[in-house]
Amino acid sequence: MTYPNVQLLIDNQWRAARGDATLVVHNPATGEAIGTVARASIADLDDALASAARGFEVWRNTPAIERAKLMRAAAQLLRERCDATARLMTLEQGKPLAEAKMEVMMACDIIEWFADEGRRVYGRLVSPRAMNVQQMVMKEPVGPVAAFTPWNFPINQVVRKMCGALATGCSIIVKAAEETPASPAELVRAFVDAGIPAGVVSLVYGDPAEISNYLIPHPVIRKITFTGSTPVGKQLAALAGAHMKRATMELGGHAPVIVAADANVAHALKMIAGAKFRNAGQVCISPTRFLVEEAVREEFVAGFLHYVSGLKVGSGLEATTSMGPLANPRRLAAMQQLTADAVARGATVAAGGERIGTSGNFFAPTVLLDAPLDSSVFNHEPFGPMAAIRSVKNIDEAIAEANRLPFGLSAYAFTSSIKTAHQLTARLQTGMLWINQQAAPWAELPFGGVKDSGYGSEGGPEALEAYLVTKTVAMTSV
Ligand code: NAD
Repeated sequence: MTYPNVQLLIDNQWRAARGDATLVVHNPATGEAIGTVARASIADLDDALASAARGFEVWRNTPAIERAKLMRAAAQLLRERCDATARLMTLEQGKPLAEAKMEVMMACDIIEWFADEGRRVYGRLVSPRAMNVQQMVMKEPVGPVAAFTPWNFPINQVVRKMCGALATGCSIIVKAAEETPASPAELVRAFVDAGIPAGVVSLVYGDPAEISNYLIPHPVIRKITFTGSTPVGKQLAALAGAHMKRATMELGGHAPVIVAADANVAHALKMIAGAKFRNAGQVCISPTRFLVEEAVREEFVAGFLHYVSGLKVGSGLEATTSMGPLANPRRLAAMQQLTADAVARGATVAAGGERIGTSGNFFAPTVLLDAPLDSSVFNHEPFGPMAAIRSVKNIDEAIAEANRLPFGLSAYAFTSSIKTAHQLTARLQTGMLWINQQAAPWAELPFGGVKDSGYGSEGGPEALEAYLVTKTVAMTSV
């Protein structure tokens, strides 16, 4: 399968942008241009908005059980197309094929969970103060949604937003990432081929700021959902606020990993070292700030470096590759800057720290020891294959450091003490806490952050709430 020239989906038609404008897509493993993606104009967005308004009327009036059947049919089609879709993802994003396949299969699981959960959206009856009164609380779909998704999980980031919308009866316009357009198009294609009515899902690409500035204030759009960096999230949330639009913001993190003196270090390493380098660290919940109690530091660092020495960096299409390239040259530059800053401030580079080769965005898996707390790597999300490890004297110090940053998305801890686990549970400022395990963000679990990591949830029943509005109806019989 060769890489396609990716089109827009508007009113169930796959089509070029008006005026035929396109953007080039590159393979991050080689730097070569591999295809193009249509660049939507304002006229295309107007078409998508009109279609989404019509699609909403059709979809909100479709029984939940029928919506569920269609979503399940889409999941089945996507599952059948897993290999080809994953290959497109690896070509455009760089991650190893096995990770891309896992992402596609996880998307099928997410669609099926949301399909079923959509059938369990209930209102309630509230006991009245007079017996000729009936009081109802109804849940209704909020309306057409505008979704903005990034390049690190080209399908996963889209599917959670699409499923929240579709399971509750909303229509959705997705602006997926221009750098990784083909695999999300395959996700959307599965819904179209399963028979989703026109206008329920639209897919556009283009200039991100132009599209968000147009869609967010537009009266057709009733809800915004964004995944990406905190600075962009704050801009979009402000725009949504100015136009009184509901918003879900899934933003950056800088996940602490607390390794207590009583932890099973071998188990901790097994859980967290692989997780660090998954998707070359370009994961919002990637473990990044390692805070290790002094008693187990030597064992932890030695084990971590041993794991790193066994990683094979290369093209994601090679079966032996355990870590692919970074998705774009911006990340490469960021890794170089973070390393240089840490070294200048006295950190030791225990592994990696440099680019590999001169073609493709390959950066060596990097371990920085004892970078000071004012170094860039301890304050800015690395979003790359970089682990910064420091000692802490005790759990109080670890908690203070974990909570120091404005982020609060994901946190990890390893301990065999139930007392420490309770303390961490109560005191860590985070949206998700994984104790003695790696992250397992199943569809049924809430997924989201606190503080500058955003608000709202993209998993669990909370994810459906985000797409629902409440209507109170009181009726008196006279
Ligand atoms: P960026 O801030 O330029 O863009 C992040 C995402 O937002 C991209 O998908 C981009 O297309 C989109 N975007 C940017 N401006 C926009 C606008 N005005 N309207 C709508 N969408 C807009 O950064 P980047 O270089 O692509 O990524 C760097 C940083 O972004 C990372 O370091 C990380 O912190 C964050 N990020 C987070 C996630 C996540 O899963 N939370 C995913 C990707 C990137």
